[in-house]
Amino acid sequence: MDLKKYIRDIQGFPKEGIVFKDITPLLIDANARKECLEILVSELKNKKIDKVIGVESRGFFFGMLLAEELNAGFVPVRKPNKLPFDTISASYDLEYGTDTLEIHTDAIQKGDRILIHDDVLATGGTAKAVCELVEKLGGVIVQCNFLMEITFLNGREKIAGNEIFAAITY
Ligand code: AMP
Repeated sequence: MDLKKYIRDIQGFPKEGIVFKDITPLLIDANARKECLEILVSELKNKKIDKVIGVESRGFFFGMLLAEELNAGFVPVRKPNKLPFDTISASYDLEYGTDTLEIHTDAIQKGDRILIHDDVLATGGTAKAVCELVEKLGGVIVQCNFLMEITFLNGREKIAGNEIFAAITY
């Protein structure tokens, strides 16, 4: 199955110059979704995962499915002021300004084996911030896992040293 058929390019969303990778056609198709999940876990078969981190918000969809498939816990990493308990945060640069992500301080125990999942690896700023959060709490990153990698943006350089897996590459 060619999963790219289930990713819709939206030109100029949310602003000019961006080609938005819309995953809703993939989410809506049960067979494509199942096959995508199988591909996402394909290099995790013999690896123990304690917790899957899903990055707000499109990382939540397959993040939760991965947690179920791997019999692991699920941990949301969220935008500021969404998580109700004690948090730590990490900031990263955007084209204009910065953005911040947060995680609950009790979400990861020292030595927990962590799978980080998000929909898109673009410039890598988001993924790097999530790696920082995991490391601050003493988690061990087993793999950074994405539905898609936009390779020409070189995001993987920002999270070099970690295992990186993407089901689809552009
Ligand atoms: P980056 O930090 O540049 O690697 O961007 C990754 C984050 O931004 C992910 O959480 C994605 O959901 C979102 N993102 C970046 N580029 C796109 C894109 N072209 N289409 C959809 N989402 C994107």
